[in-house]
Amino acid sequence: APLPARDVAQPLPLLSFEFFPPRTEALDQQLWSCIERLAPLRPRFVSVTYGAGGTTQERTHATVARLARETDLVPAAHLTCVGATREAIDDVARGYWEAGVRHIVALRGDAAPGTDYAPHPGGYAYASDLVAGLKRIGDFEISVAAYPEVHPGASSPEADLDNLKRKLDAGATRAITQYFFDTGTYLRFLDRCLAAGITAPIVPGIMPVSNFANAKKFSAMCGTSVPAWLAELFEGTDDAPEIRRIVASIVAAEQVRTLQANGIDEFHFYTLNRPELTLAIAHVLGVRAPASPPPG
Ligand code: FAD
Repeated sequence: APLPARDVAQPLPLLSFEFFPPRTEALDQQLWSCIERLAPLRPRFVSVTYGAGGTTQERTHATVARLARETDLVPAAHLTCVGATREAIDDVARGYWEAGVRHIVALRGDAAPGTDYAPHPGGYAYASDLVAGLKRIGDFEISVAAYPEVHPGASSPEADLDNLKRKLDAGATRAITQYFFDTGTYLRFLDRCLAAGITAPIVPGIMPVSNFANAKKFSAMCGTSVPAWLAELFEGTDDAPEIRRIVASIVAAEQVRTLQANGIDEFHFYTLNRPELTLAIAHVLGVRAPASPPPG
């Protein structure tokens, strides 16, 4: 059956947008012009990812600080446990608190490719430990990660759900999911969360696919399955970027409309620092920039 039109009496969904910190001057400009395009949609918060050490992390701090200083957006800083002592991580968190940043996306992070994760001696071992540590520093709003398809390193789906519960019990108030293409998997995951007594919002992470080949590679690394129907939809579009973009927006629009028809009213977008697909999909959800007043 066709999906129903959005019920205009319903409140508009709440959106959040995720960015990555830029590596070059040109990418920096791309990020800030993306932020400028998306800001009028009044997201609930915008988050900035955190890389594995060194200059990558400094770029996260600089981007989050600039968002706090120069925009009226609510910045959320991603923070991971990898490769650092508790003291070093606590210092970063205190720096955010002092800069007025009150929202942290608390994560474990991953080991270098090809190696298994091992906690840093003297570090926070898992995201749940980091959440508890952050709460000792300040009353941060904390979001954590959830995995509708189960985290690849979990010993079982039940253990992974227990872990999510531990993170929420430690003080997180929301989970954001790893992206998924099979919407039914996410809806079943919500049922399992409810059955486990989890009542915090489990916000779907939406990945608008702008490059199918890249998305396939990345999905294999993070445990997201790529359904055959998705591969079939993108087949033959490698050299047809315009068609690929239109297909991408149809796929993502169908996904968010299905979620909306199932009562989901909060969405987190992995923007990849590009505004167009996110703008189009937000539009479909009913979230639009306010019209500018007529000139004069
Ligand atoms: P955890 O919740 O700590 O869980 C990790 C694994 O350990 C799970 O399998 C869990 O079941 C298991 N586990 C937890 N506690 C225990 C325990 N006590 N004993 C045994 N096993 C346990 N990565 C980045 O590097 N930077 C980012 O900015 C970033 N942003 C992300 C944003 C979102 C919304 C998501 C979904 C992921 C993000 N990631 C990021 C990826 C994330 O770091 C990885 O998926 C990582 O492998 C797990 O992180 P986590 O916070 O879910 O870990």
